[in-house]
Amino acid sequence: MDDHTHFHNHSSSQSYNHAHPHEAHPSRRDFLRALMGGALAGASILELAYHRAAWARADTDSGSKLFDIEKAADGVYFAQARPQAMINCNASIFVGAKEVVVVDAHSKPSAATSLIGQIKREITEKPVRYVINTHFHWDHTQGNHAYRVAEQKLDFIASTTTKQLMSDLAVARMKASVEQVPDEVEKLRARAAQAASAAEKAFCADQIRQLQAYQAELQNCALELPTITFEKSYVLQDSAHDLHIEFHGHAHTAGDVIVFCPQKRVAATGDMVHGFLPFIADGYPRAWPGTIQSVGQLEFTKILPGHASLQNGRTIMSNMGNYIEELTGKVEEGKKAGFTLVDLQKRITVASLKSLQSNGYGEYIMRNNYRFTPNFGKLPPLQTGVDTNIGEIYNNLARV
Ligand SMILES: [Zn+2]
Ligand SMILES: [Zn+2]
Repeated sequence: MDDHTHFHNHSSSQSYNHAHPHEAHPSRRDFLRALMGGALAGASILELAYHRAAWARADTDSGSKLFDIEKAADGVYFAQARPQAMINCNASIFVGAKEVVVVDAHSKPSAATSLIGQIKREITEKPVRYVINTHFHWDHTQGNHAYRVAEQKLDFIASTTTKQLMSDLAVARMKASVEQVPDEVEKLRARAAQAASAAEKAFCADQIRQLQAYQAELQNCALELPTITFEKSYVLQDSAHDLHIEFHGHAHTAGDVIVFCPQKRVAATGDMVHGFLPFIADGYPRAWPGTIQSVGQLEFTKILPGHASLQNGRTIMSNMGNYIEELTGKVEEGKKAGFTLVDLQKRITVASLKSLQSNGYGEYIMRNNYRFTPNFGKLPPLQTGVDTNIGEIYNNLARV
């Protein structure tokens, strides 16, 4: 996912929310600030113990966990992100004999700090040694710095291409995401002024608070670039299990990697495979389905995706590949026949797409939109997301 998706498809201004977690209480924010300010640099064991206790308190005091952690296999955990105005990706957590590997790092350091606290409290006190960034997007990388602050010895692993994309784009994307906040806040204020209920007003106020907290935090945030990069494959060996970090081809971005654990038969897929409609603005619609097929050759039974819930089996993965392939075929055909983008958005309907009808895939996507994005009342229909995808494919057809 990327900022554009979340502002345009799932934004607080278009959605209407109720049950979603409250963000950090002011006192907790101050605490996190202090923590981010380098409180742990060179910390002694005693100090670390103190901070771990504080992490534990921070989560329980505020009652506002940002993640729900579930066990996927022995030593493998899935941290499912709760809805936030600025979306957080999920994380996958692999516990080795002495150290921990975490896949992806959310949209802001305080979210990563919150997860680090949950890992220490709910899973293990072992240190995080590696953070893998599946791709360059802001909602997977902007929290990196929290790990740098929290751990003595740490490496960030990504593909060479992802490092290049982060170097080229991360600062601009971060700036763009922050600069969008005032407009979003204005829309929410306007909506609150006309709100039909106190609950809707409260929803708007809470979204505004989350957006402003994001803005304040990201105005001054250190980016951490990958320290270990590779072209095709990098293996982390541990007596508990091996992790194969692999590039299989262009997909959601030019540099996506998956993390495959052969012993535990799981794969963390970032945004190449997840439970929302794909975000294709940085993507390769013609190559993506083939890349999914290649990943599908690996022997895993569970998928830990970058967004929405853990996937048992490969049905959703196949559905997502089929959807991208079918939609790309239709857009390509239509573009060749001389149809404009607007024509195509009218002609290619949800009902006309077999891939959305099969296995209830379209309904699954809508359920996830309600479950994993802030909303109050009705979200835009699935066609709105399909229209966005048609536009993204239309623009990116030439990419291979
Ligand atoms: Zn994402
Ligand atoms: Zn992404």
